[in-house]
Amino acid sequence: MSKKHDRLERINVNNNELLIADRKASELVDIVGGTPVYVYSRTELSDRVKALRAAMPEALKLHYAIKANPMPAVVQHMSSMLDGLDVASHKEMLVALSTGIAPETISFAGPAKQPGELWAAVVAGIVVNVESVLELERLYVISEDLGIRPKVAFRVNPDFELKSSGMKMAGGPKQFGIDAELMPDILSGLDTAKIDFKGFHIFSGSQNLKADALIEAHDKTFELAARLTAIAPAKVEHVNIGGGLGIPYFPGEKALDVTPVAENLQRLLDSRSGDFRDTEIVMELGRYFVGEAGYYICKVTDKKVSRGQAYLMTDGGLHHHLSNSGNFGQVIRKNYPVLIANRVDGDKTEKVEIVGPLCTPLDIVGAKLELPEAELGDLVVVFQSGAYGATASPQDFLSHPHVRELLI
Ligand SMILES: *Cc1c(COP(=O)(O)O)cnc(C)c1O
Repeated sequence: MSKKHDRLERINVNNNELLIADRKASELVDIVGGTPVYVYSRTELSDRVKALRAAMPEALKLHYAIKANPMPAVVQHMSSMLDGLDVASHKEMLVALSTGIAPETISFAGPAKQPGELWAAVVAGIVVNVESVLELERLYVISEDLGIRPKVAFRVNPDFELKSSGMKMAGGPKQFGIDAELMPDILSGLDTAKIDFKGFHIFSGSQNLKADALIEAHDKTFELAARLTAIAPAKVEHVNIGGGLGIPYFPGEKALDVTPVAENLQRLLDSRSGDFRDTEIVMELGRYFVGEAGYYICKVTDKKVSRGQAYLMTDGGLHHHLSNSGNFGQVIRKNYPVLIANRVDGDKTEKVEIVGPLCTPLDIVGAKLELPEAELGDLVVVFQSGAYGATASPQDFLSHPHVRELLI
């Protein structure tokens, strides 16, 4: 087997069976009534938030970007521990509002918001992160029609990028946000009698495991935010500096050390001057909060050998867990950490391909794995599965049952 994933060094086992949230994997499957299932550990979610809070400057506000995992129970739990929620659609907005969190702590970003979504957001009183000139014009019309001043922050497409990111979301031409160089004209023309200006949103990238790259991006983000604040038409109440903190998915990846990132943020907060001094700084995170607390469990339903290669056939796959299959943006497919949940160790191992029920060779759960010899009914568990799972997968492809979800 290739090098053991760091994540597999941090597991609890009882009687050779994986424990999740202090329960055996097989018990969890019994509780939900079968496989496949995503299990999310409430304790692990809480511990993750507490650890980041303890590491980060006290003044830093933390938001949860709910598209990473919008299960209502998860969003409810996260809302009770964090300072706000970030949504990317009308439906996500409703999930966020139903937690009871204050509407002004919800922000709505997204590159092609529909007029109806804008209308709903303004009535609800949430902050719209404006991403185009036409979007701003639509908000003026809504302001006239409703007699409500829309709460607006500007999503700015920065003139830099977050280096070594899993996903680059800024720098150069992008569909996200308004180019930084266009902002002076937009800000000088803003009618604050009609628009309730709140601040800025500067998001430069995602899934980053390199503290140096994050530090460089934060330096540049603060520098841009200070420049924009100097020409803002009203008090800048908040600047959302994006997120980008990653988690290790693949063999050889190391968990991000947040200490230097936190120290640099404290330095940046301390060195602010002028009107920028009492602006709230917000960091928005998705996968960093929820990714490690989630487990995808499916069942071995058949075994076969094809020309010397052993296959474990399961009832789960790409249709529930597209990112694990390698088809959600990866260039070269690598394995997420995978175990046989009820056979964590075994004297006899075999080299297997773990596949799902779809009629496509892309339907991979794990490739070239060396695992204890599995039997029918065994449970395959995929770690690092709490983010971009159920709702980021084509669940209706081939019309198999949708995946179950359990927060426990
Ligand atoms: C998706 C997204 C996030 C969350 O990204 P993660 O990599 O899950 O932390 C944060 N902010 C914005 C604007 C996003 O689009």
